[in-house]
This record gives sequence, C-alpha cells and structure tokens, in this order.
Amino acid sequence: MRIAIFGTKGYDRHFLSAANQGHELHFLEPRLDADTASLGEGFEAVCVFVNDRLDAAVLAKLAAGGTRLIALRCAGYNNVDLVAAAELGLTVVRVPAYSPHAVAEFTVALLMALDRRIHRAWARVRENNFALDGLIGRNLHGRVAGVIGTGRIGALVARTLKLGFGCEVLASDVAQDPELLAMGVRYVSPRDLLEQVDIVSLHCPLTPDTRHIINADAIGRARDGLVIVNTSRGALIDTQALVAGLKSRKIGGVALDVYEQEADLFFEDLSNEIIEDDLFQRLLTFPNVLVTGHQAFLTEEALASIAETTMANISDFAAGRPLANRVDRQAAIAPRG
Ligand code: NAD
Repeated sequence: MRIAIFGTKGYDRHFLSAANQGHELHFLEPRLDADTASLGEGFEAVCVFVNDRLDAAVLAKLAAGGTRLIALRCAGYNNVDLVAAAELGLTVVRVPAYSPHAVAEFTVALLMALDRRIHRAWARVRENNFALDGLIGRNLHGRVAGVIGTGRIGALVARTLKLGFGCEVLASDVAQDPELLAMGVRYVSPRDLLEQVDIVSLHCPLTPDTRHIINADAIGRARDGLVIVNTSRGALIDTQALVAGLKSRKIGGVALDVYEQEADLFFEDLSNEIIEDDLFQRLLTFPNVLVTGHQAFLTEEALASIAETTMANISDFAAGRPLANRVDRQAAIAPRG
C-alpha cells in the first residue's frame, strides 16, 4: 500500500522503515490537520500519532483523495471522529498495547529524580557548584504511595513501589488486580486514596469521570507535601489548581510527562519561539516541578513494538484479513499514549 505518514520524526522513520512489510512509505513532517490534509491525497493509508487532528472535515478530505485506512501508531483514538470515519467508509486501526514497562519505568524515574532533586543537582554540577543545600530529598521506603488506575502500566508501578522500594501502596480502580491484592496493595476509593497518600501516580485513562480528578478540592483534602506524578493524560489534572497548590506549598512536588494543553507544545523544538501559555510557563518556574514532553513511551523496545503492530495492521487490511486492532465507531473516549 502507499502510506502517508504524518508528523514524522527521525525515530519514526527509523523504526517504521525497519518494520516495513513491503509497503511504499512516504514520510511527511507536518502534523495532519485541515491545512495539511491535502498532502494525504492519493494515499490508500494514512498513518498518524497522538496530536494529529482527524475531525470530520479532515477525514472527508482524505476519503475524497482515495484514503481507505487510518493507521494510528498509538493506543488512543480520541483525536479521531470515529462516527465520521465510519460514515466515510474509512477503517481505523491502532496499537492497543506496547511495552507498559517503558511508561512504568519512566514514571518511577521521574518520581525518583524529582524526590532526590537529581534534575537540579545535574544543573548545579555543570556549573561546578557542588553545594548540597536545597537538595535534601525523601526516602521512598516507608512512604504511602497511591496508584490511580492499576491496568497494564499502573500495576507495574504499584508492584515496583511496593516490592522494589517498600512503600505502602494504596490503589484505586474500577477493577481490582488480584496479584496486587495478594502482595498487600489496598484498594480504596479515589477520594480516600487522595486523602491518605504522600505520593500519587496517575495511570487511569481520561474519561468524563477522571477529568480533573486532581482538582482544587482533592488538593485541599490531601496531606501536606503531596507529590503528584502524571504520565497518563494531562487533563487528569486541573493545572490552575495545581499551580495554586504549589504556590500555597500544599503540594510538595510535581512530575509531569503530559499536560492539558500539550498539543500546542510537545514534540516540537520551540527553543526559539515565544511560548504564549502562561500557565505552563508558571509551572516551569517552580523548583519542585519536573516536566518532560510526553516521552515515557520512548524506548527502543516500545518504538519497535509500535512500528511492528502498525505495519501488521496495514498488511492485514491490505490482504483483507480480520483486523484485530480495529477501532469501531462505538468506541468511547480512550487512553492516549
Ligand atoms: P490500561 O487500560 O491497561 O489501564 C487503565 C486502568 O485504568 C484500567 O485498569 C481501568 O480499569 C482503570 N480505570 C478506568 N477508569 C478508572 C477510574 N475512573 N478510576 C480509576 N481507574 C480507572 O491502560 P495503560 O496501558 O495502563 O495506560 C494508562 C495510561 O497511560 C493511559 O491514559 C495512556 O494513555 C497513558 N500512556 C501514556 C504514555 C506516555 O508516553 N506518557 C504512553 C502510553 C500510555
């Protein structure tokens, strides 16, 4: 098949080329949106990532240009108008799972870097400043950690915190994981969890129920010095409330790999640009905030797995085989990774 691959970075080119099963790959740098949709004209398949915008107008343009398959190289599909895709006869496939270890390990790395001030120490040492004032951390051992969402990624984080570091671990999920229960993880409501933990790590999908699960009310009821880690979805946190909680010293530290308004920022080099998002800029000024640009998935293993599944999805479609990773129009709001 002739495939237009939007939003291509060097690593996409490398891993998708390596996993290619004889298709004609056209790597395009722009993100897919209404302005760039015409670049997809004449391609039977269009391959996209989390911040490409596939609304009804974009999909209609693609369908009119001969596109029949939308291949998402990510898990989430909340950026695709699935009803419009179905009405236009476009098939949508995705990569439902790829190396939860990549995200879980990055989550723990972020927590440890934040907690032990490693990001600040690194900057100091580069300036030949070896003073330790201001770098006092906390042991993970013995602290109470909460994991909201104990699916593929959250369960690995809970296990690591419990067995690897000796934290007391509370969890919250609509379904309980028997293996976590057996190792002594205690399930409680999200409300109880947020009141009882020193650290909370978010691993649930973004749904109407979980949107702003960390809000002013939750922060107000939390223990003083709460440390918040989010590698799941930005809008799980009300960023205004987060900034207020940091300013009042109620929140002890924040590590984020995702941000509510990240679509306008992440995955691009904006080092020569003026950032207009004042809230984001304020967040970056706190000494106890560590932000990365949605890179938790970025390991060789995960990228290889994403590329292999994407190419297998496309080959299955081309050969008329059943599509194990098809996303149909009934799918509700989904995780995004
Ligand atoms: P998963 O589907 O395996 O697990 C999600 C868990 O959340 C499930 O156990 C589900 O029951 C639970 N859940 C659903 N609603 C809930 C609620 N209201 N309260 C508490 N728990 C609830 O998903 P996963 O693969 O573990 O991914 C978790 C998150 O990580 C997703 O949001 C995904 O988008 C994100 N992610 C981020 C990156 C990154 O690079 N930062 C990469 C991959 C995935």
